Amino acid sequence: MTSSFPASTVLGYPRIGPDRELKRALESYWEGRSSRADLEETARRLREDTWRRLAALGLEGLPSNTFSYYDQVLDTAVLLGAVPARYRHDDDLETYFAMARGAEGIAPLRMTKWFDTNYHYIVPEIGPDTVFSLDAAKPLAEVREALALGLETRPVLVGPVTFLLLSQAAPDSPEGFAPLDRLDDVAEVYARLLAELAAEGVGWVQLDEPALVADRTPAELAAAEAAYGRLGRLENRPALLVASYFGDLGDALPVLAGAPVEAVGLDLVRGSAHGVDALGVEALAGKTVVAGVVSGRDVWRTDRDRALATLLAVRERAGRVVVSTSCSLLHVPYDVGRETGLDPALRERLAFAEQKVAEVAELAALLAVTPGHHLPGQPAAQERPRTFPARTAEGRAPYPVRAAAQAEHLKLPLLPVTTIGSFPQTGELRRARAALAAGEIGEAAYENMVRAEIEQVIALQERLGLDVLVHGEPERNDMVQYFAEHLDGFAVTRHGWVQSYGSRCTRPPILHGDVRRPGPITVRWAQYAQSLTSTPVKGMLTGPVTIVAWSFVRDDLPLREVVFQVADAVREEVGDLEEAGIRVIQVDEPALRELVPLRRAEQGAYLEWAVAAYRWATSGVSEHTQIHTHLCYSDADQILAAIDALDADVTSIESARSRGRVLGVVGGFSRGLGPGVYDIHSPRVPGADEVEHLLTEALRTVPAERLWVNPDCGLKTRSYEQVEAALANVVEAAARLRERRS
Ligand code: GLN
Ligand code: ZN
Repeated sequence: MTSSFPASTVLGYPRIGPDRELKRALESYWEGRSSRADLEETARRLREDTWRRLAALGLEGLPSNTFSYYDQVLDTAVLLGAVPARYRHDDDLETYFAMARGAEGIAPLRMTKWFDTNYHYIVPEIGPDTVFSLDAAKPLAEVREALALGLETRPVLVGPVTFLLLSQAAPDSPEGFAPLDRLDDVAEVYARLLAELAAEGVGWVQLDEPALVADRTPAELAAAEAAYGRLGRLENRPALLVASYFGDLGDALPVLAGAPVEAVGLDLVRGSAHGVDALGVEALAGKTVVAGVVSGRDVWRTDRDRALATLLAVRERAGRVVVSTSCSLLHVPYDVGRETGLDPALRERLAFAEQKVAEVAELAALLAVTPGHHLPGQPAAQERPRTFPARTAEGRAPYPVRAAAQAEHLKLPLLPVTTIGSFPQTGELRRARAALAAGEIGEAAYENMVRAEIEQVIALQERLGLDVLVHGEPERNDMVQYFAEHLDGFAVTRHGWVQSYGSRCTRPPILHGDVRRPGPITVRWAQYAQSLTSTPVKGMLTGPVTIVAWSFVRDDLPLREVVFQVADAVREEVGDLEEAGIRVIQVDEPALRELVPLRRAEQGAYLEWAVAAYRWATSGVSEHTQIHTHLCYSDADQILAAIDALDADVTSIESARSRGRVLGVVGGFSRGLGPGVYDIHSPRVPGADEVEHLLTEALRTVPAERLWVNPDCGLKTRSYEQVEAALANVVEAAARLRERRS
């Protein structure tokens, strides 16, 4: 029944378009500026271009169904008929976008990070009564579309186990219900889908099961075993590739090895840290191993000799080997060839999606002509042992000592009101930045605009009566890119967009060399803002973990060391801010949780060095200087101890949308705490009564002496109108509470 798997493939490909065509088409459709036919035509063209390009680059196994109007997990929910009733609409596309983005009076489904990437997926809602029904229109249409171009493809789908493990229980589910309880029913729908695909003449199907590289309970593994046993035993089905990625399968490898499926995909970049021998790939003998030796998570060229050695080692142990990427190429930009502004020496070392596909094809050709046990001529480069400077934070004075010194120095009122840093980024500022980059206006003209903006932001905050002011970050395009542009060791791209969620993309900087701070970065702006007022102005910096998490990072040094290099630079900046008379300094770490390893066994070590790097960055200042940090996720419970260990004098944290939970976990902190009182993700302006109520609630867990009043996050995406009204109410609420307490 089975045709053999093609010699080379990729697990997935970017879909937003080399020039973000899909972003533009989506946004214009949403705003009613273009028709559905326009959107569909853009999508069709992107798919066609992708398949043709992959084929032209010499790739043999082409994936399909990797396109998405928004998100592949949401696509899977639709495929399974798992659409909560409140979103149902006569028009399927409207239903789809309602789940993703909300509709008139209906909030969207929750969105969260896809494993440890910066891609966000839509979290499906599954309850005991969810009725599953197959809607195979999308994968079938893509298969046919490619076939019409003369190209045979392999539909890619999120696998049933991962789909359910990533889902959340529907709101009305009984206590103890877990979506995975519905695996039998979901597997039934996949069985029907496989039959339909077989009837269509599809030879291979890829089921993605990245959830299997995280720690799984024996019950979860047994469920996976049962599901794949069932799908594998179907008589009428295409051959199955079960793809794992983002790590090694561990205990799940024997489960897949024992399942009646034809191929298993392994991440041999991240998953082979302990060498191929430790993986137990012998168990896969008799199956095809789709060997992910070209990284889908970084932008570096593949070490060809090392990759070939890995492929040979796997072939020797397991038999049939196909060359592939470690995961979908969704997480890298399209084409480094367009980055003509990069230093050629750096560009040589880079590979984006196109280049990675060419590498896969080249490795497959090499593997085909390399006899059995022959190892490539050159041994893999030996890593030179390096020693790294030890950086131990001398530790600041104990909190009570600091708190007293700061109270004396800052003379803040009870319940001080502040913001998280950014103020609205006006279209005018964005245009000026683009004009500066294009050489249409000079540096001086641009800086005058920034200064004028700072003057307005300071005046506004003084008028509103805030207690710790900010300069508003008008000079920053992005909280990471801005620092990357001012530090040695980083490069920024022009077209290197990567999908973050839906139509949104980011352009991660590339950290390619030793990081150094050639000079102060933010100091003159903070200093200028402080010169306009006697109220303390807070200096704003991005923390070392976040700068690294939102960049593509060199792979020739341990991540920890790279983070410490960035921490060195942040520490210098913190010191310069203090010296310039800035008395409050905030170092944001919104990505602290993002880098937490998927395996529990590795989490402790990560959190330890991540915290140490933060403390190194922030502990060089005197006890008078107040250090703030900001985190923006509500599920802080997972890394609570680490947040506490950051030892910041004040921690602000997102909480407007999950109030009770956040206070429940962070209420016990022994230092300053600012649980957000204003949800900046929504255009809604909170009333003073509402904020007062939130603060009264917070006062049940946080003593007034340590409670801060602030929004959930930066105000960059809001309008001045909304911000002014909201902050006025926040200040008013704080004033009423102070009044009541005096
Ligand atoms: N200081 C940043 C801002 O206000 C923080 C943003 C964030 O937490 N993501 O924009
Ligand atoms: Zn935030």
